[in-house]
Amino acid sequence: MWRRAAVIGPSLSNRLAIAGVHDKGIMSRKLHARRIEGIDKNIWVEFTQLAADYKAVNLGQGFPDFPPPSFIQEAFCKALNGGSPMHQYTRAFGHPNLVKILAKFFSRIVGREIDPMEDILVSVGAYQALFCTFQALIDEGDEVIIVEPFFDCYQPMVKMAGGTAIYVPLKPREGCGPALSSADWVLSPEELASKFSPRTKAIVINTPNNPLGKVYLQEELQVIAELCIKHDVICISDEVYEWLTYDGTKHVKIASLPGMWERTVTIGSAGKTFSATGWKVGWAMGSGHILKHLKTVHQNSVYHCATAAQEAVAVGFQREYDSFGTEDSYFLQLPLLLHEKRLRLADCLKSVGLKPILPQGGYFMIADISKLNINLTDPSTKDELYDYRFVKWLIKEKGLATIPVSAFYSPEHREEFQKYIRFCFVKEDSTLQAAEDILRQWSESK
Ligand code: PMP
Ligand code: GLN
Repeated sequence: MWRRAAVIGPSLSNRLAIAGVHDKGIMSRKLHARRIEGIDKNIWVEFTQLAADYKAVNLGQGFPDFPPPSFIQEAFCKALNGGSPMHQYTRAFGHPNLVKILAKFFSRIVGREIDPMEDILVSVGAYQALFCTFQALIDEGDEVIIVEPFFDCYQPMVKMAGGTAIYVPLKPREGCGPALSSADWVLSPEELASKFSPRTKAIVINTPNNPLGKVYLQEELQVIAELCIKHDVICISDEVYEWLTYDGTKHVKIASLPGMWERTVTIGSAGKTFSATGWKVGWAMGSGHILKHLKTVHQNSVYHCATAAQEAVAVGFQREYDSFGTEDSYFLQLPLLLHEKRLRLADCLKSVGLKPILPQGGYFMIADISKLNINLTDPSTKDELYDYRFVKWLIKEKGLATIPVSAFYSPEHREEFQKYIRFCFVKEDSTLQAAEDILRQWSESK
């Protein structure tokens, strides 16, 4: 049968493909839903693969290349050996041990009683908490204000929910010379206010910010809070790097400002908190009257997250609760470790002629590459923005992976920000050393 078909001509699927009807398979109708149009490219998929293909020293994707602290690894092993319930479904909206300790821990920080069963949803990483938030709260026609630069998934998630993203930029403060610290990047209160309209349903902020490292001051959050209250808008506050601040910078939760608990969804990640990004445990926290809608999305999609990982994160939070503010606390130790790595990377980048912007928080540093004048000749990247071409050249020719910063901007503003690249410094000293060697050798050979 197959041979006969081969003899008499192309198969039906081949004929349809030749006619341009579809690429693969035998369906002739349009396959994809409109909600995924234009969002098929993903920076992490593309650049993580490229870094692996070229076995590059990886300062690209944001994950530690050192192990999580031993207390949490031990807690995971103990959970895995903890008998049958640890291997079965647990409560859909969060393993009881985990939501109880998250509520206890954050009640102390937010300064109000958080209800473990009503006010918290445990999710598959912060990603799923964000996805549930947009799906649950954003409708067709709603506008969502996003502060640029932004963690890239906010825009496709708003689109998939049917909303329209409205952008407002953090910009280097005027008249202060070159912006050398993320603290110099600010929102214009007037520009921010002009973005609110009767269609605005939510604003998304990220503090400490990925990729810039900006940590919003209480005064800056107050401006955002007042606008949210005035326009009856929800605030989605992505705080996955909340423990990682440097030089005495203090992270403030917008949910702790007056009138904001009732209208804020705070997003957290155990992956970032305990240096275990592969565990994919995250959460959304906020008033039960908002959270119940996120739970509706969660129960009808993912249902719940890996029980043993949740149990281990619960043990980790209990330990952090008990050691809070002492030198034993991992939430104090990790930023101390990263502070050194951050200064080391900044010095190295300066020494090779790059202009880094020192982050106040998070584990990324962006650097201006505009003075480097590299002649990029790779024809396969000729239609791409400068930072994409530069990063691909750096991976392929020098074996060092970073991330182009224009990926953290809206299509409308990408071109303006194609002269920065992002380095991740949550890496072993040996990895940072390997990156330094590459940069120094290159700089000397120029
Ligand atoms: N928000 C920000 C700002 C991030 O950088 C990341 C990347 N990890 C996430 C959310 C997603 O976190 P998770 O790995 O817990 O899904
Ligand atoms: N949040 C991490 C980063 O910004 C990784 C995100 C991802 O791999 N999807 O690098």
